[in-house]
Amino acid sequence: MRPTLLSVLTTLAIGAMAATASHAAGVTDKLIEDSAKSGNEVLSWGLGTQGQRYSALKQVNTGNVARLVPVWAFSFGGEKQRGQESQPLIYGGKMFVTASYSRIFALDAATGKKLWKYEHRLPEGIMPCCDVVNRGAALYDNLVIFATLDAQLVALDQNTGDVVWKEKIDDYAAGYSATAAPIIANGLLLTGVSGGEFGVVGRVEARDPKTGKMVWSRPTVEGHMGYTYDKDGNKKENGISGTTNKTWPGDIWKTGGAATWLGGSYDPKTGLAYFGTGNPAPWNSHLRQGDNLFSCSTVAIDVKTGQIKWHYQGTPNDGWDFDGVNEFITFDAGGGKTFGGKADRNGFFYVLDANTGKLENAFPFVKKVTWATGIDLKTGRPNFVPENRPGNPTAGADGKKGNTVFSAPSFLGGKNQMPMAYSPDTKLFYVPANEWGMEIWNEPITYKKGAAYLGAGFTIKTINDDYIGALRAIDPKTGKIVWEVKNTAPLWGGVLTTGGNLVFWGTPEGLLKAADARTGKIVWEFQTGSGVVAPPVTWMQGGEQYVSVVSGWGGAVPLWGGDVATKVSFLEQGGMVWVFKIPKGGATGATAEAPAKAAKVAKAD
Ligand code: CA
Repeated sequence: MRPTLLSVLTTLAIGAMAATASHAAGVTDKLIEDSAKSGNEVLSWGLGTQGQRYSALKQVNTGNVARLVPVWAFSFGGEKQRGQESQPLIYGGKMFVTASYSRIFALDAATGKKLWKYEHRLPEGIMPCCDVVNRGAALYDNLVIFATLDAQLVALDQNTGDVVWKEKIDDYAAGYSATAAPIIANGLLLTGVSGGEFGVVGRVEARDPKTGKMVWSRPTVEGHMGYTYDKDGNKKENGISGTTNKTWPGDIWKTGGAATWLGGSYDPKTGLAYFGTGNPAPWNSHLRQGDNLFSCSTVAIDVKTGQIKWHYQGTPNDGWDFDGVNEFITFDAGGGKTFGGKADRNGFFYVLDANTGKLENAFPFVKKVTWATGIDLKTGRPNFVPENRPGNPTAGADGKKGNTVFSAPSFLGGKNQMPMAYSPDTKLFYVPANEWGMEIWNEPITYKKGAAYLGAGFTIKTINDDYIGALRAIDPKTGKIVWEVKNTAPLWGGVLTTGGNLVFWGTPEGLLKAADARTGKIVWEFQTGSGVVAPPVTWMQGGEQYVSVVSGWGGAVPLWGGDVATKVSFLEQGGMVWVFKIPKGGATGATAEAPAKAAKVAKAD
């Protein structure tokens, strides 16, 4: 039946009132959880604190996605391009999207009209290791909160863009920076730190999201003290992380790295926040005999106490810069169990019990792994290939350079910062993987504040002539790659999967692609004009499903990619957010006046 004008107006009015009422109260934990289930809005990084990047929306599906067209695009402008790794947030008809050089924009989500912009004033001498990126913001109450390259947190009024509070995380001159999206967990704002290449001390911090005041801090390097804070900011000891010198020799743990630079995830069912930790510092592993906890690990922190409940270390005594920061995505494993999946930079995919950290399964998700032959499922430890560890420089003839080894994956990883997705429909993970290796060697090094603290040299090498990247659908039960779509350049953007049986991801070559989630058949693609190194999102607005992704080539590959950087040097920078939908008249909920408009769009295209 065709709706009457009155019924349409009434529906619109009720819809508007409902939107106003629910949005006047501001963003809450419950709203974040509800939006993750409905898919109607995008209130957190990861489309829900579990980070599944799954949207239940199915108005856009395998049957009609071919008709998806752009509705607006917005340029971040200025001369500040570089890598754009940001995931937009959608709330109350507004899009909040961060950009390179610590910028954030609020846009009208339906039209792309700019509402406000905030450009953080960055000091000279910031030290981001891997481009001037930002991965997104958090929403809480009436605030939008993001981290900056000079290691600060800024909370802005969602409506005006006015700064409500600003807090320093740490000293940028010592190598600290921040690029991850904060997350909200049980009413707390959780953040990590970047700077593992400068010998910072990794940690997770919890703050009051309304004020920015500290609640607790938990170091991720064994030996450092954790703290809780009272309302006046007085800190109280809350126990050392681990046992001093148990897995680190001498004083080297004091500048031990293990940066929590990709942020974390949170599962309300377990009450635990899951943060991945980066490389132990320095890279030269011979200077720190031992496992070097809690580097290259997943740490599960009880958000109520700020204590580490369990940890699982992927690469003990890492010698390859295998940052274990990758997202830990919890999922319903059946039989009342909650498991988590993690595709580690070291090339192995781990499935752990999310409550206890017990290893349930582990298998490689890339085709070439040289540093270990596998993971012992009983002990949870890798079966190392000792001769694949870069040699000790003090054992060499001149004491200046150890044996060079060829290692795969490269230090840029089987997977890097680009987050994967999990679909509860297909029960598959969709992993943006890369096949590459490196030549790596160790050198002597001593710590100096604010200087690179590696003690290693390296060159990234290609393994296959025809591809580096591969979007892989992986069954966490069997470890099987169900399907894959290869890509010439390394994949560096995240993934979205939907109830419409779709998987969306971007490529450095500029394409946003959609594939059938069950078969991997490409069903749609669009050229965005620059490389996509960011994760797509989707939401509902005015009864229509929108899809969006940020485009703008950059990140670590052009800076550190060696032979691969040369191979992809033709790619151009950018800085643009794209938004797509199916023209009215095609999707469910079509209206009478829309087809003419749709036809116009199609013609212009
Ligand atoms: Ca690192």
